[in-house]
Amino acid sequence: MKKRFGQHFLSDKSILRKIVAFANIAPTHTVVEIGPGAGALTRELAAIAHRVIGIEIDRDLIPPLRSGMPPNVEIVEADALDVDFAKLASEPFHLVGNLPYNVATPLFKRFIAARFQILDVTVMIQKEVAQRIAAKPGSGEYGPLSVLVQYYADAKLGFTVPPGAFRPRPKVDSSVIRLDWRPGVANATGFTDFVHRAFSSRRKTLANNLAAMFPSIPREKIIEGLGASDIRPHARPEELSIPDFQRVYNHFGY
Ligand code: SAM
Repeated sequence: MKKRFGQHFLSDKSILRKIVAFANIAPTHTVVEIGPGAGALTRELAAIAHRVIGIEIDRDLIPPLRSGMPPNVEIVEADALDVDFAKLASEPFHLVGNLPYNVATPLFKRFIAARFQILDVTVMIQKEVAQRIAAKPGSGEYGPLSVLVQYYADAKLGFTVPPGAFRPRPKVDSSVIRLDWRPGVANATGFTDFVHRAFSSRRKTLANNLAAMFPSIPREKIIEGLGASDIRPHARPEELSIPDFQRVYNHFGY
C-alpha cells in the first residue's frame, strides 16, 4: 500500500453496494471512478452501469486492474487532479469514488469546474470533511467549504463507514456524500474569494470582517449595506445562508 496515494481499500460487498445504490447507478449510465485501487468498487459499478472508466494514478495497480475487469471497464492511468474530464468520455457521466483523502478538497474544486460534463458526484471522504461540506447555517461545521460547494450543488450526506472496513485502517471515520448540481449556476471566482474573507475571523461579526475587507468603506455604510441585503447588523458569517451571502456579495460588488 502506498501512503502517499491515500490507499485504503474496501472489500465489504454490502458497503460497496450501498455506495452504488446511493449513487443511483442505472444500466444506461457511464460512470467515472476516481482511484479504483484493487477494483472492488469498480466491479460493483460495472455490474450495473453501461460503461465504467477508472482513473488510477498508481502505475503498479494498472496491470492487475486491467487484467481482471469485465469488458465494459476501461482503466486510465492518470492523476485525477489534472485529467481533462471533458476528454474522458464524449457523453456526460456520473462520478463515483472512494477518494484519496489527502486530495479530496482540490478534487471537489475540479468536479465543480467540470460540472457541465459530470452529472452528479457520489464519493467517500473523511467524515469530518463530508459534514463540513453538507453543514447548514448556524452549525459549528458551517464554513467557506459548505457555502462554496452548496452554492453549486445540493449536498446530501449518506452513511458513515468505520475505519475497520478498510485495509489498511485509516485514522478517521469516512462518509459518503452526494452532490447534485443546482441548475444554471455560473462560475463565481470573485464570490469564492469573498466567502473565504467573510469567514476570515469566525469570532467577529460579518460587519467587522467586511470592514477589514473594505477599509475604505465607512462602517455605517457597511451596516447600511447589510440592512439593504436583509442581514442583521451583528450577524456572524456562519449564520448566513447561501442566498444571504449572494445578496451581500452583490451589494458590495466585490
Ligand atoms: N476504490 C478503491 C477502494 O474503494 O477500495 C481504492 C480507494 S483508495 C481510498 C484511493 C485510490 O485512489 C487509490 O487506489 C490511489 O492509488 C488512488 N489515487 C490517489 N491519488 C490519486 C489521484 N490523484 N488520481 C487518481 N487516483 C488516485
